[in-house]
Amino acid sequence: MAVRAQVVVRGVVQGVGFRPFVYRLAQEHQLNGWVLNSTQGVVIEVEGPRQRIDGFITALRADPPPQAVIERVEANLLPPVGYSSFIVEASREGNEFVLISPDICICADCLDELWNPQDRRWAYPFINCTNCGPRFTIISDIPYDRPKTTMSTFTMCPHCDQEYHNPADRRFHAQPNACPLCGPRLELASNGARPAEPSPPGEPIEGARRLLAAGTIVAVKGLGGFHLACDATNAAAVATLRERKQRVDKPFAVMSLDVNTVRRYCQVSEGEAQLLESPARPIVLLRRKPGSPIAAEVAPANNYLGVMLPYTPLHYLLLSDGVTPAPLALVMTSGNMSEEPIAIDNQEALERLSPLADHFLLHNRDIHVRCDDSVTRLFRGREAMSRRSRGYAPFPVRLNLELKEILACGAELKNTFCLTKGTYAFLSQHIGDMENYETFASYQASVEHFQKLFRVNPQAVAYDLHPDYLATRYALELAEAKGLRRLPVQHHHAHVVSCLAENGVDEEVIGVAFDGSGYGSDGCIWGGEFLLADYRRFRRLGHLKYVPLPGGEAAIKRPYRMAVSHLLSAFGEEALRLPLELWTQIEATELALVRRMMAAKVNCPLTSSCGRLFDAVSALLGVRGVVNYEGQAAIELEMLAAEGVDEVYDWSPPSGYPIIIDPAPVLRGVVSDLRRGVEVAVISAKFHNTIADITVGVSRAARERTGINRVALSGGVFQNTYLLGRTLDELERHGFEALSHHQVPTNDGGIALGQALVANARLSRSKER
Ligand SMILES: [Zn+2]
Ligand SMILES: [Zn+2]
Repeated sequence: MAVRAQVVVRGVVQGVGFRPFVYRLAQEHQLNGWVLNSTQGVVIEVEGPRQRIDGFITALRADPPPQAVIERVEANLLPPVGYSSFIVEASREGNEFVLISPDICICADCLDELWNPQDRRWAYPFINCTNCGPRFTIISDIPYDRPKTTMSTFTMCPHCDQEYHNPADRRFHAQPNACPLCGPRLELASNGARPAEPSPPGEPIEGARRLLAAGTIVAVKGLGGFHLACDATNAAAVATLRERKQRVDKPFAVMSLDVNTVRRYCQVSEGEAQLLESPARPIVLLRRKPGSPIAAEVAPANNYLGVMLPYTPLHYLLLSDGVTPAPLALVMTSGNMSEEPIAIDNQEALERLSPLADHFLLHNRDIHVRCDDSVTRLFRGREAMSRRSRGYAPFPVRLNLELKEILACGAELKNTFCLTKGTYAFLSQHIGDMENYETFASYQASVEHFQKLFRVNPQAVAYDLHPDYLATRYALELAEAKGLRRLPVQHHHAHVVSCLAENGVDEEVIGVAFDGSGYGSDGCIWGGEFLLADYRRFRRLGHLKYVPLPGGEAAIKRPYRMAVSHLLSAFGEEALRLPLELWTQIEATELALVRRMMAAKVNCPLTSSCGRLFDAVSALLGVRGVVNYEGQAAIELEMLAAEGVDEVYDWSPPSGYPIIIDPAPVLRGVVSDLRRGVEVAVISAKFHNTIADITVGVSRAARERTGINRVALSGGVFQNTYLLGRTLDELERHGFEALSHHQVPTNDGGIALGQALVANARLSRSKER
């Protein structure tokens, strides 16, 4: 006897070849009915004998298309209505939401076509199918259908149209489907502002390859924006790119054809190879091999290189041999001036990037959403993200509790925002440092786009306590305009809760939040914090002792000022008579100014920052006195830390409440070693060990007081893998359960998630009462 089943499939089921898969499955099981995309997911009706329907549903769950993520399958049995065939119906709009697939790198089938001279898409740079290609970056609204993507302006040729409408074809309803006859095209353009440059040769890819081989800089339009590309083995080209981009030392990412090529200049483990080859194609931080052909200028003073594999057919073509041999690796850095958002529009790129690029490799498929490359690494067998963006966003972080609809606005640096709904936290792609109008404008547009895509209508806004963050001002204005609840969240509380949320822990923990700076509840600049925290609230169990931050922002850019501050705090005026290299590095007038400011307590906010303590030690050791990118002094200090050192510096054991840890004894130890001629590499390791030791010591004191045995580590300082590894080991050795970040960045890129969870907990409580 026939029955009818209505099946709703939720998860990432649109733009991943799900409907053709359902169609084939229905054929196999000889069932009639229909399938459609709706704003709640994929809806299916199948009619036939009960047994076949059960088989259909089992197969549906068991073997979905490779990029699909099934979150839930709901089936209801209904009386039959007598369907006579199985069809794919037009999409239905509604007010529910679906999960949208991130952009997916080209699949193996499409890659075969790309290399096959017999194929009609041979060497076509825009090949895609239902299993691969652009998604998030071309979607303007849901449901995901061609008219709601930037492919809407291309009319398919009869051949492509036939593939698109044939349920048996692997391009059935592949929304960006295209071929050389009907799809997007490449163009190699000269830079109008550089008339002296030779005009580009005929075929765009061959031309670009030739220009890159000649050492010029080419702006390449990718999936989520433009890259600036140059030959990574050409020191002069890389130096020119640095100069033009005004990026002095911050590492550039590189791209190579495949893992074997990457192995020529980096160590790649099996796990790292998998990460490199994953469909998200992130930038993976890999240990570089000494004496590799990659120019030192790519990542100065860094033992790691950020490497990615090609993710679009265009990248594959650029990195393979033509008349001009393929480059070993290309620098692929985001197409922008430092600190501005990545360029996405052709006209915008031609204008904004003209001081940076010699030529432009353009195409006419528009990018709707800006999305930078993601950055990740393998840490102890698990992924640890430092930038969660292309290939990951807008896939949500799944939580094990139901959330209200909240907008969490994020922090200032490495901004991301977060929208919550149901059990999902939609963490945005990387927005960047909110220090200029362009980034802020991009932020606003992204917030609105996410609200529309995921049908989120926030009832409250969560934001950082810092009154001058652009994201905070935006939150307050929005709350005012729309009458939303305002929920301020302390920076380090948000860090710790972000770590709890991604680990699925909803209990009170000892939270350790170490970073550069975050606005404290007392108006001071926090950053070396031990908190007793749960989702709703926190108490400050302890922190590093306050020291002045002489000149505020100026002390962050010039770590030697922090060295002065910490030395004066540790030694008093005596510090100035110590025979230290440091004193020769600072102009007498600036030193006098810093001392005056500190004595008069003018423009010297107090800080407990752990990041600034790293800065101070880095400057004191002569590693880095002035930085030109965030975190540089600490990164360079980490890079030279010797292996196999187990010693620590003395520090005063925790006492009192809250526990104040004075770094002075540590500074005295460092100075003493320095004067004894101990190697800087050894001092660096001892200093790292000491910070881990302090973390464990304070955690133990906190455990005695609270009985809590779980420690959550968060904050940008824990991007330091020497410190993180050592701290985790020591915590575990002392019987703690230690949590750290994996899928959400430990830096400020993860703050928004924590803000959202704190806000949700507060909203829930106010409703209970
Ligand atoms: Zn494909
Ligand atoms: Zn076509």
